[in-house]
Amino acid sequence: MATTRRKVLLYTLGGVAAAGAGVVGYAEWRTRGKASTVVRDKDGYLVKGAHLEARRRLGRTGLDVGVVGIGAGGLVGPDPIRRAAELGMNYIDTATCYGGSEALIGRALRESPGLRDKLVIATKWDPGPKTPKERMLESLDQSLKRMGTDVIDVMQVHWLGGGHVEHDEGSVRLDNDELYEAMEIAKAKGKVRFFGATSHHADRAKILMHALDKGKFDVLLVKMNVLDYESAGLPALLAKAKEKDVGVVAMKSQPGGMAIPKGYEASKWNIYQSNLRWVLEHDIACVVQSAIGTDENAQDLAVGAAQDRFGMRDGALLETYAEALSPDYCRSCGACEAECPDGVRIGSVLQFAMYHEQYGWKERAKAHYAALPPHERGSDACASCGICSAVCPYGVDAQGRVVAAGALLGARRNFQGTS
Ligand code: SF4
Ligand code: SF4
Repeated sequence: MATTRRKVLLYTLGGVAAAGAGVVGYAEWRTRGKASTVVRDKDGYLVKGAHLEARRRLGRTGLDVGVVGIGAGGLVGPDPIRRAAELGMNYIDTATCYGGSEALIGRALRESPGLRDKLVIATKWDPGPKTPKERMLESLDQSLKRMGTDVIDVMQVHWLGGGHVEHDEGSVRLDNDELYEAMEIAKAKGKVRFFGATSHHADRAKILMHALDKGKFDVLLVKMNVLDYESAGLPALLAKAKEKDVGVVAMKSQPGGMAIPKGYEASKWNIYQSNLRWVLEHDIACVVQSAIGTDENAQDLAVGAAQDRFGMRDGALLETYAEALSPDYCRSCGACEAECPDGVRIGSVLQFAMYHEQYGWKERAKAHYAALPPHERGSDACASCGICSAVCPYGVDAQGRVVAAGALLGARRNFQGTS
């Protein structure tokens, strides 16, 4: 198993080494900090003092976006937004379900005249397969009100295929005609400039290809990191997006939400930067990072990451780190779910546990977990089963983590089937 994993990883990194030619306008996106102000650590990683000048075109929207943007999922106040904008970031990605995130953006805009014009604001709505257009338009109006803005730059369909709304299987939500009617109305009224689709499901390449085939979306937001780039089919997705001139924003560049394998603790921030640089070597416009909304150090380091190109030093670090992390990283591939006698949504359960442990999104993780039908959360039977751990092709201790998730997130099903 270890040999197979290693081969996959080397192939991935080998692809990156030759990827420069595939990146649109590569020469223009490198950031330049003033040599006199930037600070590097002992290993040469830039840790402070850079300004993000690098911009890429967000596909056919024509918007120029900083190559690193603010993931507003864990936003802690208006100050990180202002600071990130001062550092040169201009893309901010939020959602209606990110707690008070939209309201905090609204506060930052109110308190900082001129800030709205500097930002490209992307938020999300959550239409299901049968949601009427009126509900979507209501959601849009609420987002506009919370943020105190007249227009949203990019409105995205949230979390396709993730079980986020009822009956969310594959790309079924994209086949709701009311969605496209709502999009037309919103655009005609000048409330939204562009539309997007998002997914971090294991099947995201297929789901988002379906979105591309619809021809209605200008932006894709997709989970992308070194550990499952190939297995999730992302090379084909990026190629198709490029062909259609659809802008791609990457999220979740840190596998496992900045989970660090044992022995790599001291390299945590170097890994953070190398992961960002690895993502930026591909045909994407921007990578959004949630730590930027909470941590000044993460902001500085993200800008610093974009200062240099992915190199041998990053490759050597990521190769060993990714191999060490691999058995702890659930790709939500579904292989174990197909074998589970109890129908547990193992990938989702592990993802919510990761939100709780790594992102610190405790209440949100519990709410997502509680929203799963009780039989999909796992049960006391897990303790004596273990099929999922046995079949996981990556060696993840799925059984142990489903059991641990129950203790962490609460309300597992007992033998009687009650929640
Ligand atoms: S535990 Fe393994 S098999 Fe199950 S979803 Fe995660 S990566 Fe796939
Ligand atoms: S341990 Fe639990 S989640 Fe894993 S296969 Fe068995 S019943 Fe399903």
